[in-house]
Amino acid sequence: MSATAQSPVAAGPLDVAALRAEFPVLRQQVHGKPLVFLDSAASSQKPQVVIDAERRCYEEYYANIHRGVHKLSQLSTEAYEGAREDVRRFLGAASTKEVVFTRGTTESVNLVAQTWGRRHVGPGDEVLITALEHHSNIVPWQMLCEERHAKLKVAPIDDRGAVLLDQFEKQLSVRTKLCAFAHVSNALGTVNPVKQMTAMAKKRGAVVLVDGAQALPRLPVDVQDLGCDFYAFSGHKAYGPSGIGVLWGRRELLEAMPPWQGGGDMILSVTFGKTLYNELPYKFEAGTPNIAGGIGLGAAIRWLESKGMQRILAHEDAVLRHGTEALLQVPGLTLVGTAPEKAGVLSFVLEGIHPHDIGQVLDSEGVAIRTGHHCAQPVMDRYGIPATARASLGVYNTTEDLDALVRALHKVREMFG
Ligand code: PMP
Repeated sequence: MSATAQSPVAAGPLDVAALRAEFPVLRQQVHGKPLVFLDSAASSQKPQVVIDAERRCYEEYYANIHRGVHKLSQLSTEAYEGAREDVRRFLGAASTKEVVFTRGTTESVNLVAQTWGRRHVGPGDEVLITALEHHSNIVPWQMLCEERHAKLKVAPIDDRGAVLLDQFEKQLSVRTKLCAFAHVSNALGTVNPVKQMTAMAKKRGAVVLVDGAQALPRLPVDVQDLGCDFYAFSGHKAYGPSGIGVLWGRRELLEAMPPWQGGGDMILSVTFGKTLYNELPYKFEAGTPNIAGGIGLGAAIRWLESKGMQRILAHEDAVLRHGTEALLQVPGLTLVGTAPEKAGVLSFVLEGIHPHDIGQVLDSEGVAIRTGHHCAQPVMDRYGIPATARASLGVYNTTEDLDALVRALHKVREMFG
């Protein structure tokens, strides 16, 4: 049950038909049409091994972790801590002490803002982000800057959705205490050159947090190679459960940070006079966590490893290229986000048709996409639009899915055009 060893990676290109069969949810029809699921940037579907890992936990050995001497508690602890080792290996981290389980990316960013941020960011200091961030990598910094009388600076993007690196570099100063940016943009699909951006920020002495919510399920990630200080991601976007995520942090920074939430598991001893905090990573894990979720995340990580991140990347890239070309043939369609380095997100607008109407007609055709501001309102403002329609890819999507999207978009145009 706690298979912590890395699963072997198969050779050759991905067998996507076989892989699709691992996702029970994809077998259904929606409104009498085969489901075409193109909303994985919001949350991905789950393979059978992840569903089974959670189910087996509840059916066979569930108990609270870390505190029990009885068999079930030991088994649960072993499986949960095995998942932490899976995450460590997947991220290329030096130690499981650096892998903090959280509820997801949002909580990971807030943890850093509220602990490292409150201690190190003071009046007149600066926090630098970019114009393509998700709200969860904007608002925690805004809150921190407001509280600490610091300044939030924003590096702009060009019309294609790429961060203007010279501007980014110019905005860095000796006052920049922290720099936070997405690895992959959920609204535009832009892949940021995070290694380069990190090096620029480090040269100025800033601490770097990378929001890996969209990158982790799509690209190979090695936190030591990236050189960043913190890396955040969510289980539910990476074919794992919701309510579980990770903050990876460099050990020396985590050691020096004060705890965030107080409670059980984050302490060594408590008296009314003084509390001694637990060692890493438990210092940041107050209360009973999402035990089955963590175990499910471990299963998702091993599943990703068994497919191979290079193969996943190559497959998604081929589908993205096909989809980009196919969408550009639809009259009146404009892609929003055409950066040279892009991952599997296709945001677009159709002239004269509201994205919400697009979403509803597509749904009636069995095609699930997302419409709205994608929790990135400043990105919408940058393009002067209130919303986009967004088709986002998962590893199970095929070129046929994108052809079905295009056929459905022609129907939208017939109805509203
Ligand atoms: N950052 C990015 C780039 C995202 O796409 C998302 C989710 N849409 C988040 C952060 C927040 O993730 P979560 O809601 O899982 O905390």
